[in-house]
Amino acid sequence: MRLQVMKFGGSSVATPERMALVASKIKKFHQEVGRTVVVVSAMGDTTDRLLQLAREFCTASRHREIDQLVATGEQQSTALLAMALEREGLKAQSLSGALVGIKARGPYTDGRINGIDPKNVINILEDGAIPVVAGFQAVNEKGDIVTLGRGGSDLSAVALAAALDAEKCCIFTDVAGIYTADPRMVPAARKLEKISYEECMEMASMGAKVMQARSVELAERYDVPVYVASSFSEERGTWIVREDVKENFLVKAVASDTNVAKVALLGVPDVPGMAAEVFQALSSGGVSAEMIIQSVMRGQINDIAFLVKKESLGDAIDICRDIARKIKAQGVAFDTEIGKVSIIGAGITSHPEVPARMFAALASEGINLDMISSTALSITCVVGAKDVEKAAKTLHKVFIEEGK
Ligand code: ADP
Ligand code: ASP
Ligand code: MG
Repeated sequence: MRLQVMKFGGSSVATPERMALVASKIKKFHQEVGRTVVVVSAMGDTTDRLLQLAREFCTASRHREIDQLVATGEQQSTALLAMALEREGLKAQSLSGALVGIKARGPYTDGRINGIDPKNVINILEDGAIPVVAGFQAVNEKGDIVTLGRGGSDLSAVALAAALDAEKCCIFTDVAGIYTADPRMVPAARKLEKISYEECMEMASMGAKVMQARSVELAERYDVPVYVASSFSEERGTWIVREDVKENFLVKAVASDTNVAKVALLGVPDVPGMAAEVFQALSSGGVSAEMIIQSVMRGQINDIAFLVKKESLGDAIDICRDIARKIKAQGVAFDTEIGKVSIIGAGITSHPEVPARMFAALASEGINLDMISSTALSITCVVGAKDVEKAAKTLHKVFIEEGK
């Protein structure tokens, strides 16, 4: 019998009314496909609210009790959705991350899946029922709950689809698919019929929050076809698949992210081992840095600048101040009033006119570039927070609407 995984995000189950609509959608799919595993996120902004509550008492970001707390969000939504499915006349059973057999290691709040034993899910399926799985959560070797990073229900869904050899993983959300830019920010954004794993992963890591980047990476590794569509309409969505080999270049999408802050270590002595000290300390503190840039400023000293997620800024500043004293750097500066905007497309680096056109488009709007970086699939500029939306609209117009 065919098997599919259906994942519903927080806004899709934010109210009892929406949950009832989701239950009737599941019923329809279940009748068509035969076996269905449902993965669900916490209702609405529950995770944000719980994290805010945690901050009343705890400043550490990788703390056991934070995971104990935030996991209750998914616990609520799974139980409620199972009840809503029963009301639809279906057999359903809710399962926590532990009961579903998802194991993880690594730090609390940012665990990495290292195995799935889906026997409970298989038993429920064999009983003709629908397992309703709490996304975002797993257990570590001690039996503690560990969550899988923000947006981690996408990862739970893809991991289960891989472990159960499902024919597809459907991600149902509050937009009708993956667009050429965030449709809430860029009204001219167009829905894509399909996108390659690698481009989607790049979009996600550049801030397009429609899919968690790690989930797309896992989908590619295990060849899970992912379909992203609306929870509430029948509109055709977007397939994330392995794309045919072709050489023609296209800017596929524009992404932006304002959940970042810049940290700079100023006047770092220009001797071997300094960057190693800084990033070793950040890594030990569980702080991920991106867009790392070092420039030779004056004489024998450098500045090292990088971006962190806003929620890691406090930790990053404390760590950098300690290290600055140790390595005799001149100081630490930070800026929260920034954001990044990226263009994404396979083959970007083999087209030298692309960065030139990108920077010219931003300059023509009077937007100042604070940092610039590129990968094989994208070019990213850091700009003032107030300019992010204008920058995204401008780049979308130049590279996608005008198709240049
Ligand atoms: P869920 O709660 O279903 O997981 P998310 O809020 O995590 O939903 O992701 C959906 C949101 O992603 C949309 O509401 C949209 O604003 C945002 N988004 C950002 N970039 C894109 C894009 N390129 N295409 C579609 N949605 C995007
Ligand atoms: N509820 C979690 C979060 O808000 C997981 C998810 O929604 O995917 O990050
Ligand atoms: Mg999400």
